[in-house]
Amino acid sequence: MSYKLVCGLEIHAEVKTASKMFCSCKNDPFGASEPNINTCPVCLGMPGALPVANRKAIELTIKLGLALNCKINLFSKFDRKNYFYPDLPKGYQISQYDIPFCYGGYIETSEGRVGITRIHLEEDTAKLSHQDIDLDGDGELDKATLIDFNRSSVPLIEIVTEPDIISAKQAKEYGQKLRQIMRYLDIADCDMEKGGMRLEANISLAKDGQAELPNYKVECKNINSFRFLEAAIQYEVDRQTKILENGETPIQETRGYNPETSKTFSQRTKEDAADYRYFPDPDLPPVEFTAEQVEAIRAQIGELPEAKTKRFMADYKLNEKVAIDLTKNKTESDFYEKIMLAATKEKIDCQKIINALLNKKIAFSFADSVEQIIANFKEANTSENVGDGELQNAINKVLSANQDAVEKYKAGKTAIIGFLIGQVMRELGKKADVNFVKEKIIIALG
Ligand code: ZN
Ligand code: MN
Repeated sequence: MSYKLVCGLEIHAEVKTASKMFCSCKNDPFGASEPNINTCPVCLGMPGALPVANRKAIELTIKLGLALNCKINLFSKFDRKNYFYPDLPKGYQISQYDIPFCYGGYIETSEGRVGITRIHLEEDTAKLSHQDIDLDGDGELDKATLIDFNRSSVPLIEIVTEPDIISAKQAKEYGQKLRQIMRYLDIADCDMEKGGMRLEANISLAKDGQAELPNYKVECKNINSFRFLEAAIQYEVDRQTKILENGETPIQETRGYNPETSKTFSQRTKEDAADYRYFPDPDLPPVEFTAEQVEAIRAQIGELPEAKTKRFMADYKLNEKVAIDLTKNKTESDFYEKIMLAATKEKIDCQKIINALLNKKIAFSFADSVEQIIANFKEANTSENVGDGELQNAINKVLSANQDAVEKYKAGKTAIIGFLIGQVMRELGKKADVNFVKEKIIIALG
C-alpha cells in the first residue's frame, strides 16, 4: 500500500502598520527599547477598555487577498476567540470566525495550484519569556516567566490554505512565494527568526487513489523556517506511513518540531474549533466596504514578482533564471531595472551587464549610481585602440615564432587559432577586440 500526502498550511504574519490593531500604541515589537513600553489599557487587556479597529491593517489584508486572487467579503466582522493563556490576559483573542475579509484565492507552484481558503485579520498575543531570576532576593535563581505586552494586539494576518499540498517541497515553495508577495506589497517584513512570520502545517496521509480526506490530521506548530517546515512534513510522512502500515490511525494531535533532532514531538491532543466559543465582538462594529473601495485598493497592488520576471525577460531579453534572480526582492529588482534602462539607451546588452554584475566581474554596491556602474562596465569591456601597423607587426612576429601552429592550422586544425590570438594579445600588451584580432590573423594566414 502506498500513501500520498494531504497537507494544508496556516501562516501568521505580523502586519507593518504604524499603530497596533485595536489601539493607538506603536506597532514595533522588535524595535522597542524595553519591554512593556508600547502599551495601554486596550492592549494590556484591562476590563472595560474599548478597542478601535485599525483601518490600514484591514486595507492591507484586502490588498493581500486581491494579490492572491481572493474574493473579498464586503461585509465582515470581528469575533472573540475565547481561550485562556498567560500571554492573553483578557481571555479572548479578537479574530474573525465565519466572515473573513478574503476567501477563495490561490498561489501557483511548480507542483500545481494551492488553494487559499481564507485570509483573516486578528491580534497577536503578548510574548512570554522564561527566565532564571532571583525573585525573592535570597541569592538563588528562581524560575520565572515574564510577559512583554509590546507585541500584544499587533495586527496579525492569517492565511489558510486548502489541503492541496502534495509534497514537503511544494509546502516550502508555497511559503516562499507567499512571503515574497507580502514583502513586495510591503505588508509584512516576515522576519521568521524573530517570529514575524510563523508556520503551521496540517499533515495527514491518504491511500493512493483515495478521493476523500483522511479521518485524522496532525498539526505541526511553531515552525520558524521553510527548511524546518519541509523537514517536519517529511518526518511526519515517514512517521505516519509506519503507523498506517501497521493498520493503525495516527492520533489527532498538535506536534512541535525540534530542529536539533529533526523530529516532531507530541505536544497535546487537538481541541475542537467549537471549544473556542466564538461570538461576534460586541465592542467592534461590523466592517463594510463598497466594491469601489475594493477596486481602489486593487489599483495600488503594483507589479507582483511573477509578472515582473516575465516583463524582465521580454523587455530586457534576460534568460528566465537571471530574471527570477533579479526579481526575488523588490528593492533590488528596481535597482537592476534602472541599470538595464540605462544600458538599453547605451545599446549595451542587458544580459551581458547583468551577468557581469551577478558574477562579480565588475564590483558594485546597491549604493552606487547607475552612471558609475555603466561606466565601470564600459571600461571593463571596451578594447583599447590598437594601430594597424602595431597589430600587423605583432601578428607577423607571432606567426613566424609559431610555425608548427601555423602548419596545424593549415592542416585543418582551426581550433589552434585561439592559441595564436592569445599570443598576439600578449605581444600587444593591450586589450584588443578579440574578433578583430582573429579576423586579421586569418587574413595573415592566407
Ligand atoms: Zn495599546
Ligand atoms: Mn490565528
